[in-house]
Amino acid sequence: MTRSQNIFEKQLDALRDQDLLRTLKPVEDRQGKEITLNGSACLNLSSNDYLGLATDRALAREFYQGMDDENLISAFGLGSSSSRLLAGNFSLYTDLEDEICGLYQREGALVFNSGYHANIGMIPALAQEGDLILSDSLNHASIVDGIRLSKARCMIFDHNDLTMLEALLKEQGPKFNQTLIITESVFSMDGDLADLPALTALKERYGAMLYVDEAHSAGVYGRGGLGLCEATNTMDRVDVILGTCGKALASHGAYVVTHRVIRDILVNRMRSLLYTTALPPVAVNWNLFIMERLAGFNDRRERLAAVSRELRHQVRAAGLSTPGESHILPVLTYDNATAVSLAAHLLEKGFLCYPIRPPTVPRDQSRIRISLSADMDSSDLAGLVPMIQGAVIPETKGETHG
Ligand code: PMP
Repeated sequence: MTRSQNIFEKQLDALRDQDLLRTLKPVEDRQGKEITLNGSACLNLSSNDYLGLATDRALAREFYQGMDDENLISAFGLGSSSSRLLAGNFSLYTDLEDEICGLYQREGALVFNSGYHANIGMIPALAQEGDLILSDSLNHASIVDGIRLSKARCMIFDHNDLTMLEALLKEQGPKFNQTLIITESVFSMDGDLADLPALTALKERYGAMLYVDEAHSAGVYGRGGLGLCEATNTMDRVDVILGTCGKALASHGAYVVTHRVIRDILVNRMRSLLYTTALPPVAVNWNLFIMERLAGFNDRRERLAAVSRELRHQVRAAGLSTPGESHILPVLTYDNATAVSLAAHLLEKGFLCYPIRPPTVPRDQSRIRISLSADMDSSDLAGLVPMIQGAVIPETKGETHG
């Protein structure tokens, strides 16, 4: 073994000793809410397919029925062969961006390869040297990475602590050229919500920009399924709304809804837009297909809200600690070992529910994260809470924070 390989082996051993080792598990099949691992099918509680669209065969069939010899490459092709800045900006992109602008009633939209690309590219493009970023302490890793790539100064405010945010806006804001506030709308690991009306009021009072990552709420909230900004009537006041297509929209990619001038800046400066191969035509076309139907999925949104309410009630009634109020239900185990052993036990009993450990969540905040889907109901979840209750000592080691 070379010296470097030895070093890496030791680093992996250290992760193993702390119950922090990660491995990739082969998925053998996926049918609706079920997923097959190691030859057995189980309920998939680790997916972001919140509306149950990703394995909807009728929808997929309808999409592919539009395929013919003429549009095989232009609308269903698998390779775009170029960046959007060069030869990859085929007209489907314009169709999708026009559709998004129409739905959100905003002047600028831009589609990206993923939410990760969006955060690592937009943040450094919008916040530069001399600017200030104010970021929620529980923001997603892709936001953290975007901030790391920015030359702006960053200050973190405690999770959803708008008093602390206001103090920073008041005391620090005037020292910088401009301020960018960044938050998720539904927090990915806690399932709790940002107070968007209060955040928009704050950003207006202090002349800051507000950037809202709707990865876990696009498709899920609002009459038109446009996200929590729509549901809270703040859609026209948030400067940067980021939606991702890989979760409720059952696709791949991401989009921003914003002012025209910000769109133009991104086209000129956003490195993860400019220096990567454009999404394949088939993905852009499927995004358009889903966007056109998004408003029609209210029955699924209602089913998801109902099953989430019911499970959260059961978890809390069992004396377990779960923050939040959405379709994402973390159950805190606090330590890594309990999270890992509980997930293994649940898998044996037919529930796939991965453990979430640092650095994804802060130290001593390990958990299992249950993410629900509109095609589940309480009968699918029967027995789940007592099993968790048997493994986790209720409410002993920490406070809920939701
Ligand atoms: N933002 C948040 C809040 C997320 O949770 C994720 C993915 N888990 C992303 C961005 C990245 O999105 P994508 O999967 O499209 O790269």
